Amino acid sequence: MESQSNQENQSQPPKEALTPSQKAEKIHSELSKKRDLDQSRINFLSGDSFVRDVSGYTKNIRDRILFDGIKITGRGLEVKDQSVLGFCELASNNLSYVMKNPHKFQEYPGFHFLKRTQSLIENGMPSAKILDKCFEDVTGHDIKALLSKDKAALGFADIAYQRYILKIASDPKYFPLVGYFLAERSVANERLQNGLYSKELAEAKINVFDKFRYLASQYNLPQDHVGRTEKQIEITQFSAFDHLFKHSSGITIVGDYDKGSHRVEIKFGGSPGNFKSVSQKEVTDILLHEIWHSAQAQDAIGIGLRTEVMDRLGESANEGLVEYLTQITGDSNGLGSLSDTSDKYKYPYPVGVKSMHQLDIKDNDQFAALFRASFGHIQPELKPALQKFYVLYDQIKRKK
Ligand SMILES: [Zn+2]
Repeated sequence: MESQSNQENQSQPPKEALTPSQKAEKIHSELSKKRDLDQSRINFLSGDSFVRDVSGYTKNIRDRILFDGIKITGRGLEVKDQSVLGFCELASNNLSYVMKNPHKFQEYPGFHFLKRTQSLIENGMPSAKILDKCFEDVTGHDIKALLSKDKAALGFADIAYQRYILKIASDPKYFPLVGYFLAERSVANERLQNGLYSKELAEAKINVFDKFRYLASQYNLPQDHVGRTEKQIEITQFSAFDHLFKHSSGITIVGDYDKGSHRVEIKFGGSPGNFKSVSQKEVTDILLHEIWHSAQAQDAIGIGLRTEVMDRLGESANEGLVEYLTQITGDSNGLGSLSDTSDKYKYPYPVGVKSMHQLDIKDNDQFAALFRASFGHIQPELKPALQKFYVLYDQIKRKK
């Protein structure tokens, strides 16, 4: 996962102590392996990639459940296609997993799940209403009553919420209901992001597209990589954002891109049903950053010039590049504020960005080699360029 945040290297695995030249060597050899760079886009377009919520559904599976597999009737649920039951069971198990492993997810996952469900009930979602009745049958209280019950003692009450949810999600009798509800919830969450930010997403895509075209011609990126990248920018859309997934605490708003998904998201502060609104400027910057990630070369599991390679072995080289591209997108005069030698950086990954900026100024050919590699064209020139980047990075970090 890629998080835009103000803390360098946050949530990354421990780094090996490598010299700049060792890092460059390793990254170059890793990136030189042959990869299928079309697969992530093919999976996305065919509906076989994950929509990115706790259900674990791909778009195709979600569609099958909602449109052919299960029908909501006046009496409840009618399973029309038995073959979707397996997917419902898996999704129910995924929800159970959250409740059994709350420490791996958002704080108070029980509360957040119920709170979101309650707002879906109030919005008239059919499966949410049935689920509400089910809670009443199983626990003796509907969700609204459960939520108001122990509000004052939330931290302690969450275990109770988790157990109630687990009781339902782990009962095979309820698998179709939970599976169908998670599918409807997933669509609603996706619509929420679209409803709030689709205009900004469309604009950000155009800006990234224009900047990419300009840089690609400037730096001689071969045409096949240009074409593939343009398509990746074009297909990028919102995920089925799930508030249950953990995001870095203390940071009110972050964006996220998950490898190989071509689905970006804006994470919210606040709580479900009471999302904190964010400024248009923040939204735009976050979307530009995440769209650049989606544009980068990656295979179906996301190995490109990204976390798995540059950030695992080096130090935020890829985030530095992506945020640098973000900062220069839509700014034809280049990096006005970045030229400032003060340390008051207002963007994420400041050391990586500053190093990338220095490389661009001091050795534009090497910057060009990193740019080309990032969009899939790996050449021998990548190695010295990476090495130079890491030397600059170490210098700037020491000065900080
Ligand atoms: Zn990022």
